[in-house]
Amino acid sequence: MTTSQFPASYLLRGTAAGHTLRLIAIDSTQVVEEARLRHGLSKTATAALGRTLSASALLAAVLGKKTDSRVTVRVEGGGSVGWIVAEGSVDGRLRGYVRDPDADLPLRESDGKLDVSGIVGVDGEMAVTRLLDNGEPYTGSVRLQSGEIAEDVSYYLGASEQIPNAVLLGVYEEGGRVAQAGGLLIQAMPGVTDETLARLEANIRAMGMLTDNMRRGGLLEAINRATEGLEVQLAPNAQPARFACRCSREKALDSLKFFDSAERQEMIDAGGQEVACHWCSEKYQITPAEIAALEAPDTHARA
Ligand SMILES: [Zn+2]
Repeated sequence: MTTSQFPASYLLRGTAAGHTLRLIAIDSTQVVEEARLRHGLSKTATAALGRTLSASALLAAVLGKKTDSRVTVRVEGGGSVGWIVAEGSVDGRLRGYVRDPDADLPLRESDGKLDVSGIVGVDGEMAVTRLLDNGEPYTGSVRLQSGEIAEDVSYYLGASEQIPNAVLLGVYEEGGRVAQAGGLLIQAMPGVTDETLARLEANIRAMGMLTDNMRRGGLLEAINRATEGLEVQLAPNAQPARFACRCSREKALDSLKFFDSAERQEMIDAGGQEVACHWCSEKYQITPAEIAALEAPDTHARA
C-alpha cells in the first residue's frame, strides 16, 4: 500500500498483536483545512477543532453501530474559544465548529506548540453523544483532563466506555495552511498481554508527535511506528473522509418559521434574510418572496 492510492482524507483500520489490538487511524488534513477555510479559524482554533474533528471520526468508528451512525463530541473548558463541537459519521462525513473562530494564543513557551489547552481551558467537560442500539441518543461526559483533546478522548474511552486505549491527535500548520492533520486510536482487546501493552506504550513514547510521523511518511509511517514489533495487519481499503454538512436551503428556510409574522415582515422589508449554518458557515440568502411564502406557524396549527 502506498499513500498515493488513498483519497485526500481517509480512515484506515487494522489489528495488531494477533487481533489483541485494534487500530483506527485518520488522515484528516484536507477535512481540517476545509474547516479552517470555511470558518476562518485562527491557528490555535484550527488545531483545537482539527483534533476534535479527527477524534469524532475515530469515536464514530469505535462506537457507531450502523453505517450512518454519528458521534458528536462537545468540548467546553471555559477558555476563549468557548466551545468546540464536532460530528463524525461511520461513513466518513465530518463537520464541526467552534464558538469563537478568532480565539488564538502565541505558541506555548514550554514546548513551542500551539496552545490548544490555552484557548480550550481545563475547567469543564467533554461530552460524547452517540445513538444506542434502540436508536436513542446517549450522552456520556467526563471532566476535561488536559484540554489538549487527545488525553481527554482517551480518558473518556477508558472511564465512560471501559475501553483501554491510546489516542494520538495532531494538526500541523505550515505557511498558514493545514499541512498535516490526523488521529490514531489503538484499543486493547480481550486477551491482550502485558508484553504487548508495554511494547505499545514504549512505541508511542518513542514515536513523538503524530504529525511529525505523518510528515515523514504519511499515516502509514505513524501506524508502523506505533505498532513496531506488533505485527500490524491493515484492512485493504482506505475509507474516504470529507467535510460534509447536512444543512440545506430548505432547512435554512424552515428556520425562519420560528420567527413571528412581524419579525418576518421586517426581514422582507430589509430585502431578505441571510441564514448562516453554524456547522459549516454556509450562507443562504433567503429572498423576500421566499419569506412571504412561508406558512405562518399559527395558521399551520389551526389547519
Ligand atoms: Zn451546514
